[in-house]
Amino acid sequence: MKKVVLATRNLGKVEELERMLTVAKIDVQVLGLAEFPDMPDVEETGSTFAENALLKARAVSTFTKLPALADDSGLCVDALDGNPGIYSARWAGVHGDDKANLDKVLKDLETTGSSDRRGRFVCVVALVFPEGHKNFGREVTRQGETAGEIMAAPRGTHGFGYDPIFQPHGESRTTAQMPAHEKDEISHRGKALRAITPDLLALL
Ligand code: IMP
Repeated sequence: MKKVVLATRNLGKVEELERMLTVAKIDVQVLGLAEFPDMPDVEETGSTFAENALLKARAVSTFTKLPALADDSGLCVDALDGNPGIYSARWAGVHGDDKANLDKVLKDLETTGSSDRRGRFVCVVALVFPEGHKNFGREVTRQGETAGEIMAAPRGTHGFGYDPIFQPHGESRTTAQMPAHEKDEISHRGKALRAITPDLLALL
């Protein structure tokens, strides 16, 4: 069976991709980095989501000698010139402090004095092939976006990151008030993964 490594240690993300491939009837084995414990962390030194996704996919493909899929995502707020963007995971200084990051975005918006609360979650996925593969040298990126509004105060307990302050357009709930399967259907990551599924089918 054909294989692809998803550049994540998050089992939830591996299962999410498996679900989408099953829906698309694609017979591919999805591996996660949990299966490659010696894989070193990749520094995200790019200046765009696509650059960071490609950096991760290239490193994982080189290390595992398998086709690799990586994602990079974040929240872009219009009144903050698109920030926190690629800095979403460490906006308040400490990597992965979701509550501090979210509080800083609310404070930043207050400081601008702007009434423009528009923002969007963006995700880019990158697919890269190892040396010896028939598609070695080819690099594919696909993007998914979900537009919405930044709420004045957090609501909901599901999800992670900025979910409690993000309400997609046309919704009365934040993404932290949605069950996971509902968020999958409209999320930036869901859209990006669905967009790259035909490439997996054609190129693996
Ligand atoms: P990653 O690229 O998936 O690791 O995401 C980087 C950061 O963007 C996370 O640490 C979160 O702060 C934010 N982020 C990405 N996707 C989501 C989401 O679906 N909900 C909330 N926050 C997200």
